[in-house]
Amino acid sequence: MRTRAIIIKKQPVKEHDQLISCYTEEFGKLTAMAKGSLKKESIQAMHVDLFNLVDFDLVSGRATPIIAGAQLENGHGFIKSNLNALAAAYFFLEAIDKIVFDNEKDPLLWRFIENVFRLLDKKVKEGENDFSEFIHEKQAELLKIMGYAPNLSECCLCLSPTSGNHRAYSQDLGGALCSDCFLSGQKGIFIKMNDSSVSEIIFQGIAEKKFDSLNLIKAVTI
Ligand SMILES: [Zn+2]
Repeated sequence: MRTRAIIIKKQPVKEHDQLISCYTEEFGKLTAMAKGSLKKESIQAMHVDLFNLVDFDLVSGRATPIIAGAQLENGHGFIKSNLNALAAAYFFLEAIDKIVFDNEKDPLLWRFIENVFRLLDKKVKEGENDFSEFIHEKQAELLKIMGYAPNLSECCLCLSPTSGNHRAYSQDLGGALCSDCFLSGQKGIFIKMNDSSVSEIIFQGIAEKKFDSLNLIKAVTI
């Protein structure tokens, strides 16, 4: 079974093997074994690196499928040469790793993932160095594709419309709160129009985990 895939995580197992998590075009997210990929002379090791767009065969193994005949389609080398871009790229790897379910093919999500790394690579190539707008735009897009985009224009409790600068976001309820509900004691954080921190809170809420890459993004952009 041949498929294209983006590599999202690598874990060494045994002496020379690696467990590779990837998002594939044909089967969605899955984990497969790359046998011998930690040997010094392994060509496959170079191909199954993070962020790489590869094309490989999956053959059935005992516990996990095995990657065979990996071909590199795009190594996204520009991303790897720029710390800001790398931090942005890590966020999307982490998001896919933490919130996408295994073995669910989703052509829309595949196109998103393929695009995010291709565009980021292109931006670095063209000399860009600030990706904060790109990150926020793509975070919102990813939430929408996965069905997690919050409706911030009406209060999730009383359904009254929320006005621009007087609304909060409740992580527990997963929606916006009007100022009345917020002031009556509902837990939430105040948000401004188009506040990008909401996306980050939603991602971490869905994953029920902190995202390490968000600290990395803050560290490199200050
Ligand atoms: Zn309300």
